[in-house]
Amino acid sequence: MNYRHGYHAGNFADVVKHAVLTRILVYLKRKDKPFRVIDTHAGAGLYDLSSEAAQKTGEWRSGIVKVLEADLAEPAKSLLAPYLEAVAALNPAEPLRFYPGSPEITRHLLRARDRLTAIELQPQEAFALKTRFDGDYQVRVLELDGWLALGAHVPPKEKRGLVLVDPPFEREGEFDRIVDGLVKAHRRWPGGIYAFWYPIKDHAAVARFRDRLRNAGIARILDVSLSVRGPSPEPRLDGSGLVVVNPPFLLEEEMQTILPTLAVLLAEDDTASWRIEHLAGEDAAQT
Ligand code: SAM
Repeated sequence: MNYRHGYHAGNFADVVKHAVLTRILVYLKRKDKPFRVIDTHAGAGLYDLSSEAAQKTGEWRSGIVKVLEADLAEPAKSLLAPYLEAVAALNPAEPLRFYPGSPEITRHLLRARDRLTAIELQPQEAFALKTRFDGDYQVRVLELDGWLALGAHVPPKEKRGLVLVDPPFEREGEFDRIVDGLVKAHRRWPGGIYAFWYPIKDHAAVARFRDRLRNAGIARILDVSLSVRGPSPEPRLDGSGLVVVNPPFLLEEEMQTILPTLAVLLAEDDTASWRIEHLAGEDAAQT
């Protein structure tokens, strides 16, 4: 396990992922009933952008900084507000020093009755996460293999909520592991919302992944993605996406607003693009 999210925190892929995450959480908060978020690959939770790792790549400069510097128009402004407020909450004094990872963003949005289970296998990242949430009765941090937890921890006792699966894609076969993990978890908890992150780097692998999902026998799957450039000649992170199972009913409409706005802000050139597709359920409407 070489991957450290500190090198990439706040990059364009984090922006898209965390914008989707916050929209799902806002939806879950519309009902009084408590919910749980299970974050299977949680990372360290909080990233110092002045650290050596973040400074080395500077990726946040072409990610979150672009959004913070933008003069956002409505309705995108309101839709992105919960995400940007989670970033602002960590940076009361300076414009941007700390970037929140998915557990931190989730924690920011929980009500007193909601819970977060954050799972991380890498010992230093898990330690950082445990330290961050020490004594917080709403957050349970587990140093575990997230793939095993995906099978073992669903359904949560609340029977409502989100499973976020955000693996580092540093091993072969991560796309297949996602589909297999999703099918198993979905069998145990068909009513849960699942969000699986994936990179758009190996374009043929992404096409196979989408095909497998279309044939996975799961009723409702929404695929949202954004590419900051067209396909590169050499493998490069050209974009990223999230596959959302049982998407909240407003998510597609919200992403129709958010993605074009983010695509303009995060574009590296005029070949940037975004798409929304139902891989299962609804009509296979593609944008
Ligand atoms: N979800 C985080 C966020 O949005 O802020 C970023 C997570 S990062 C992309 C992936 C994380 O998964 C890394 O921190 C890595 O150490 C961790 N990881 C790798 N293999 C894992 C496994 N089998 N189980 C749980 N965590 C794992």
